[in-house]
Amino acid sequence: MLRNRYPCYLASEAVQPNEALEVRDKYSGEVATRVALADAGMIEHAIAAAASAEPAMRAFPPYARQAVLEQCVARFRERQDELALALCIEAGKPIKDAEGEVTRLVDTFRVAAEEAVRIDGEVLNLEISRRADGYRGFVQRVPIGACSFITPFNFPLNLVAHKVAPAIAAGCPFVLKPSEKTPIGALIIGEVLAATDLPKGAFSVLPCRIEDAGPFVSDERLKLLSFTGGQVGWDLKAKAGRKKVVLELGGNAACIVDADQGGARIDRVVERLVFGSYYQSGQSCIKVQRVYAHRSVYAELRLRFVAATKALKAGDPRERDTFLGPLIDEASAERLATWIAEAERAGAKRLCGGGRERNRLEATVLEDVPRDAKIHRLEAFGPVTLLCAFDDFDDALARVNDSDYGLQAGVFTDSLAHATRAWDRLEVGGVVVNDVPSFRVDNMPYGGVKRSGLGREGIRYAIEDMTERRLMVLRG
Ligand code: NAD
Repeated sequence: MLRNRYPCYLASEAVQPNEALEVRDKYSGEVATRVALADAGMIEHAIAAAASAEPAMRAFPPYARQAVLEQCVARFRERQDELALALCIEAGKPIKDAEGEVTRLVDTFRVAAEEAVRIDGEVLNLEISRRADGYRGFVQRVPIGACSFITPFNFPLNLVAHKVAPAIAAGCPFVLKPSEKTPIGALIIGEVLAATDLPKGAFSVLPCRIEDAGPFVSDERLKLLSFTGGQVGWDLKAKAGRKKVVLELGGNAACIVDADQGGARIDRVVERLVFGSYYQSGQSCIKVQRVYAHRSVYAELRLRFVAATKALKAGDPRERDTFLGPLIDEASAERLATWIAEAERAGAKRLCGGGRERNRLEATVLEDVPRDAKIHRLEAFGPVTLLCAFDDFDDALARVNDSDYGLQAGVFTDSLAHATRAWDRLEVGGVVVNDVPSFRVDNMPYGGVKRSGLGREGIRYAIEDMTERRLMVLRG
């Protein structure tokens, strides 16, 4: 059960201001709980506290950071059912997906605990010329300082974990603004952190109105902005001043199915494509949006994929056999219904789905979608997948690249030559061979090119961004 009201965390302390934000159950539409809503004064206080906590966090040794992260792992394990239910209610996430996210939260903190004691420097040979005879260089990595984190609605725990856990490992204080649509996961992480030995004032978790969130982006006391969300990230980068910026933004992920994937192979391919297309109702930045299948396997794939899509169980995310839950809000379902209709008017064929009721959209498969249709060009972020046949593998690679986005791509093939060509040519952050682009484990370098973002997450890659190299030159 959710509590009636959740506090926010200001400079490590639970605070219950007068103003509250209603959080709705995304399936029933009812108000499920209320969370503290921070105002401009609290945000200023949090940033000042994070900046003041820089020396204490720097002095907090790696083994102590590791111990804090391990303590969190233990608490998350004890509270896993409560965490999963919170996600199920606040995000409308099917309970099995919610449990999977809790497992990933634990993984992310567990690996961060290991990385906390592996932030090493280097010894440099500086004798590249006579000028440097007798000189040596040493590099240590020091925390960058106070960090600002802004997170989206779709993974309310694990995408918070991907910022918070590396920050603790690196020794950086932080302020976090979770999504106003799904703030509970972040607040429970805040509650767990508040009970650890982290230096006082080192962190704040503050749900707030977007119009009050400016200082999270522009305040110069913050040395890094790590933002996960939509295209607004690029506007925020322009307002971020001198701080380092990491952007984890949207995608329009494609998957190629090569000519050798027919017959007995096709069942696994279809099973993975169905998962990649519709898990979390397609509300994932690496959901399968475009499938390019070789013409020799296309008819078989199309038949099975459409049948499997029609067979998906949609409904109440609390029920264990529900695969397809609601979308986060009605506007998202309406936007997709409009894009589907636009594509159909332009000549696309709807093979199944398309029906909408409030924030629920049927899993939908489209074919022959013109490339300038919004559902082809933009990020779907919902349960809609486009099918297309190709004749030539290089042409398929070009079609995958015919997108403004570039997060991950999938290629099902037995050909090593095709796999390596895809890896070399696809304009993405990662190529997944023999699985869907939706595959992610939490220690992978993860991030995109083009409109999909800037920089990489994945614990040690985030720690890279959260530390600076500091050199000492020694003569003698
Ligand atoms: P969103 O951009 O609407 O919101 C993300 C966060 O930014 C929220 O906390 C929101 O309150 C905040 N925000 C929005 N405008 C702001 C502003 N002007 N100033 C300060 N904060 C602001 O995104 P969303 O709808 O929550 O999430 C969906 C998007 O996130 C999709 O595009 C998805 O692909 C992307 N996403 C990317 C990744 C990744 O790792 N690349 C992961 C998950 C989601």
